[in-house]
Amino acid sequence: MFVWKTHGIILTIVNTSKRANERNIHWKPKNTAPMSTTALRFETLALHAGQPIDNTLSRGIPVYRTASYLFRNTEHAANLFALKELGNIYTRLMNPTTEVLEARMSELEGGAASVAVASGTAAIFNTIITLAETGDNIVASRNLYGGTYTQFDAILPKLGITVTFVDPEKPEEFEQAINERTRALYIETISNPTLNYAPVSAIADVAHRNGLPLVVDATFTTPFLLRPIEHGADIVINSLTKWIGGHGSAIGGCITDAGRFNWAKGRHPLFTEPDANYHGLRWALDLPEALAPIAFALRVRTVPLRNIGACISPDNSWIFIQGLETLPLRMTKHSENAMTVATHLQKHPKVAWVRYPGLKGDPSYPAAAEDLKNGFGGMVVFGAQGGYDAAIKIIDSIRIFSHVANVGDAKSLILHPASTSHSQLTEEQQRESGLSGDLIRLSIGLEHPLDLIKALDEVLENS
Ligand SMILES: *Cc1c(COP(=O)(O)O)cnc(C)c1O
Repeated sequence: MFVWKTHGIILTIVNTSKRANERNIHWKPKNTAPMSTTALRFETLALHAGQPIDNTLSRGIPVYRTASYLFRNTEHAANLFALKELGNIYTRLMNPTTEVLEARMSELEGGAASVAVASGTAAIFNTIITLAETGDNIVASRNLYGGTYTQFDAILPKLGITVTFVDPEKPEEFEQAINERTRALYIETISNPTLNYAPVSAIADVAHRNGLPLVVDATFTTPFLLRPIEHGADIVINSLTKWIGGHGSAIGGCITDAGRFNWAKGRHPLFTEPDANYHGLRWALDLPEALAPIAFALRVRTVPLRNIGACISPDNSWIFIQGLETLPLRMTKHSENAMTVATHLQKHPKVAWVRYPGLKGDPSYPAAAEDLKNGFGGMVVFGAQGGYDAAIKIIDSIRIFSHVANVGDAKSLILHPASTSHSQLTEEQQRESGLSGDLIRLSIGLEHPLDLIKALDEVLENS
């Protein structure tokens, strides 16, 4: 028997006493179909999904601050290790607090199983090495978060995995770049630094036509603005650090497996050859029927998470669960404030250009408007009329906005990517990804929008 307690299909009700059961919310086994109108809605799931009520009857989610779990006896221990019995072993692999986060993320993304890890960056690396090895190739958008770009451009090649970069707004470029060693396509929904929106469904079609999974980093949209799985994504990555945590107070990442990619079609030897990391198991062929759909999530947990070890702390899991509870409210307000600020900047004489996918004239608007029904997110970028020097001056003198290398905080943030997050890129790479020296990146927070506009006007005036 090969069963995993934390895969998101089996949701355990810890306490079976009558009184506890009366108060319990009984979650049905997961189904991966799009959320129907009879199912609980996003706002409700954000508050309730994935929490079993334990025998303390705690309403809040307990933090299980423990590294390991007692074995009842040697037989119990042996059974847990052989996966003949379900149960906790060690927090690098599983933790009851983290399990709530994972189950809730699966519900909100409409996926079958999730694995939470130490950071968004670790989520990306664990995803790639779960499906690709030396000699393999990934075809990726060239508009990526700075750290992801460096991982793909400078680290993966040293491990023998090549990455071909293409224009995220041109699905045909993905098709042309695929070769016989390509193992996945990789995009971000709304991408750094120019906030282009990648047409998820069209790129998913290219992936599936070629027997490949589509991996989507959905950090900038969160499941409240876009559920990439409903648009064909097979694996969704979220940096929990950003809007999901929502207050700039912890680092974490999550990988969600849609549970429907067929890894047995011959393009993924890591899933069809015996795995020396795991008792010679062939992940796509040997799992029991109930677990076969989540082969990817299981391999992430039992191979890189277990043996490379970028696990999340239960305290941070708790912070992200707390963030999820108000995600719908915050994303709505972030989006409204960002729209107000973008519209204002567009009319400002000291502003050369503005990109916000919600502006009607924005090159990304048609594709974004098709998919993003709840708002266009909290990121706005613009060019200072006075170029690089004006951009620096603006950042050094602005009020309210915090000058930090982060996004998705409740507070408004500002950054000059050319001299910071994207300074690793060569001038040519910067040009290719649309990153100019005059570009200022704003992560619009939850302050009153008129205060934000006033702060921007003051510094633009003098720029
Ligand atoms: C921040 C970010 C990451 C990396 O996440 P960390 O939690 O900081 O490691 C990846 N992708 C995107 C789009 C991000 O914004």
